[in-house]
Amino acid sequence: MPQIAPDVLHIPLLPRNGINAYVIGDVIVDAGMASSAKKIAKAVEGRTVRALTATHAHVDHLGGARRLVDQLELPLWVSAGDAGDARSGEPTLPKHKATKLMEFAGGFDGVDVERELREGDEVAAGFVVVEAPGHSPGQIAYWRASDRTLLCGDVFTNMHLLTTVVGLHLPPKLLTVDPALNLASARKLAALQPSVVGFGHGPVLTDAAPKLDAFLAQVG
Ligand SMILES: [Zn+2]
Repeated sequence: MPQIAPDVLHIPLLPRNGINAYVIGDVIVDAGMASSAKKIAKAVEGRTVRALTATHAHVDHLGGARRLVDQLELPLWVSAGDAGDARSGEPTLPKHKATKLMEFAGGFDGVDVERELREGDEVAAGFVVVEAPGHSPGQIAYWRASDRTLLCGDVFTNMHLLTTVVGLHLPPKLLTVDPALNLASARKLAALQPSVVGFGHGPVLTDAAPKLDAFLAQVG
């Protein structure tokens, strides 16, 4: 598994980095779809892992959680804002008829949440929680200031979700409960001036800060 920063592993779960998970220190970040659990479990084989956490409670980030939690006997840590959705397995989404995006919009097996995360909470390997709501009610990012590494979940994506063409985007409005709030969160994360950014979807970005700034300037 590629290490994208000290103590940070990237686990691509689909070809072209279509869906990603990460490991920070001894904590897994995101669980992919139900079918991803096996791949994640294999990626952490031989490592000490003490928890699963997730950037937000959507099926492509918590779909594999039930299996992972059971198989590896892990507690689940989710933001306070998304904890209810994680427990029920019913994500808060805008009301619409999601067609092609359905695989990103379904429910998942709910999992009990042992720890509810809030702004500034320490997670592992020097990463702290940054609240970045909008895509989901309680979307969070994980930030390590010492080397400016950011895991941003779906506040930004680094590919088009339908075409898989690489490039910065905001998440689709069809799957985003409050797009204006998500944009404010995107600006909050860009203001951290991250060096390395890991996304829920798309390849890892290096020398990231100027690229995020340029993207946001063009978004308006
Ligand atoms: Zn996602």
